[in-house]
Amino acid sequence: MKSLFTNHQASLLEKLGIFNWFDLLMHIPVRYEDRTKLKNTSDFQDGELCLISGGILKSEIVFRGRRNLIVHIADINGNQIFLRFVNFYPNQVKQFQPGKFVLAYGSVKKNLIGIEMIHPEVSVSDSPMFELPKTYTPIYPTTAGLGQKMIQKIINKTLNSEEVISQLQGYILKFKNMRELDLLNAFINIHKPKKIENIIDLNHYKTSHHESLKYAELLAQQIFLKFSRNKNVQKISQVFLSSNNHLKKLIQSELPFSLTQSQINVIEEIEKDLSTGKCMYRLLQGDVGSGKTIVAILAATNVLYKNYQVAFMAPTEILANQHFEKFIDWFGKTNVKVELLTGNVKGNRRKTLLEEIENGAVNLIVGTHALFQENVKFNNLGLCIIDEQHRFGVKQRLDLMNKGKKSQYFPHQLMMSATPIPRTLSMSYFADLEVSTIKEMPKNRIPIKTKLIRESRRLELIEILKKELMKQNQIYWVCPLIEESDKLNLKDVTNTYEDFVKFLPDSEIGFIHGRMKESEKDHVMQNFINKKINLLVATTVIEVGVDVPNASVMVIEHAERMGLSQLHQLRGRVGRGHKESTCILIFKENLSENAKERLQIIYENIDGFVIAENDLRIRGPGEMIGTRQSGIPNLKVANLVEDADLVEEAHHDAETYLKEHQVFAKSYCKLWFEHKNYLRI
Ligand code: ADP
Ligand code: MG
Repeated sequence: MKSLFTNHQASLLEKLGIFNWFDLLMHIPVRYEDRTKLKNTSDFQDGELCLISGGILKSEIVFRGRRNLIVHIADINGNQIFLRFVNFYPNQVKQFQPGKFVLAYGSVKKNLIGIEMIHPEVSVSDSPMFELPKTYTPIYPTTAGLGQKMIQKIINKTLNSEEVISQLQGYILKFKNMRELDLLNAFINIHKPKKIENIIDLNHYKTSHHESLKYAELLAQQIFLKFSRNKNVQKISQVFLSSNNHLKKLIQSELPFSLTQSQINVIEEIEKDLSTGKCMYRLLQGDVGSGKTIVAILAATNVLYKNYQVAFMAPTEILANQHFEKFIDWFGKTNVKVELLTGNVKGNRRKTLLEEIENGAVNLIVGTHALFQENVKFNNLGLCIIDEQHRFGVKQRLDLMNKGKKSQYFPHQLMMSATPIPRTLSMSYFADLEVSTIKEMPKNRIPIKTKLIRESRRLELIEILKKELMKQNQIYWVCPLIEESDKLNLKDVTNTYEDFVKFLPDSEIGFIHGRMKESEKDHVMQNFINKKINLLVATTVIEVGVDVPNASVMVIEHAERMGLSQLHQLRGRVGRGHKESTCILIFKENLSENAKERLQIIYENIDGFVIAENDLRIRGPGEMIGTRQSGIPNLKVANLVEDADLVEEAHHDAETYLKEHQVFAKSYCKLWFEHKNYLRI
């Protein structure tokens, strides 16, 4: 079916993510224009987009600060209209010859000179009769070299292709109790909408045809996910029966707190998975500070106790280090050997460690992505735990799994995330994994107070900080940049640190950022944990996972620039102990509407789920959880927030398709995703 477009066009279309005729039909108009009728001069609304025609009276080039081409035309009633062009070529000037006729589409302005249309799209002709389109004109996203008209033409050609039509006719279906599927009809009506449709509905993707297509898309995604899930379910893993083993008892007896009911419940869920012989594929979600680490470790004792290895992967060295220290402490009285593997472990030390991992002398291996990048061979990996999973790509997780595979056995997989996943998202992007949720926070927590402060009042904060420091409270101060920048007028770590050293001579102040050596970062974090540093100026490197319960103040500069999830994560660094904590958000005046909304949401809400719902609404799934690299087909027309009902419906129907119409489901999935190289996760 290549002949639908030339090779040159094909290479341009690829830039728009279009690889075949189906993608092309899924390239749907961003909006529609009504060029089916001419507008009367008397009906003009200021700023309105409309179509007019008239005879050319004269054209002239005038200077209004710069060169302007003005074409004077008169419509059928003799009313004068000026067409004004600011950028124009000699050829364009030439075409506007008096006596010819022009059809112009653009936005009209009424001003002192009269009625003006600025930079209209025009066609010039010898005859006053123009043939107008019978349907609304679709406007598509374009790319350099492939303009609007060309895309319209190619799509039209595709829709008229007999081969395409007959393929799509094969997917017209109506099963009992399910919505009718008719992609052909939906595509025709979306690309060439009839005039009976309401243009406002069209522009908002709200017609019944848009709804059909959204449903069809969601159904394809759901079927895809169910297939890949079935594949996963077929993977087998070692059986680890849940037990009240001695490791678990020992760790639990030494904890300075007792587990919440929610933590107990999710441990049971994980243990159940570990005992089935099928490969576990589970996401443990819980708000920042809900205590996921201990849950993962207690569940892991069932694997360690059977002498199988556990890998615990964290996205940053700071976090890997912190986990390592904690685990050394928790397993201190046991015979479990805990080791740390990061990019920072070098030379002979690394060599020995790799040997120990391979011969099984090490049982619990904590690390960063070094765990799968390097030449690591496991002896018998029973379980992979992936902390802050959204920081890793699907491929990285798969690599770790494959590394740990021994004969036919895969290691079980437990992923953790503090970015709670809204329901519609977990039904789509995470439909193929089991989810456990920690629903309650440890009891001793006092809710964090959030304050919003204008940047102009930044200095007043010094007094507040002094008081906090006197009370022996520790403070994080987060800046967006490491060093001063000419281009960005933003606060930086280096200058802020120097200011504090001046203003607060009696305090211990430190700084940390991503460009420091790992050993330096560790040193600073250790000093903060041991209270040798009381005020830590940092970049967002401290965003994920860092756990210093004594820290009770978090100041975030340029909070207006940060996303909701990021603000929530940063705020979650405090309020982890017994102290009352505060998060101060400094913002720059003249906020955009979007920034205003974000700050208001973070100010009013403490519940991570509510924040995540809003984040999903504002940013979409691609930005929010990095679904772009998730290996799962992205949605082009449906929207997980606005079309939540359709997601539910498709989720439900996909089940029926897979059970009762499997052959159809397979081919339908192929139609949507055949040429795309999606990872199966
Ligand atoms: P997150 O879920 O954000 O990863 P952590 O596992 O780092 O949270 O736990 C946050 C802090 O809460 C840690 O200091 C941890 O030891 C502590 N913690 C975990 N569970 C409880 C509990 N049930 N009661 C009190 N503190 C707890
Ligand atoms: Mg954590």
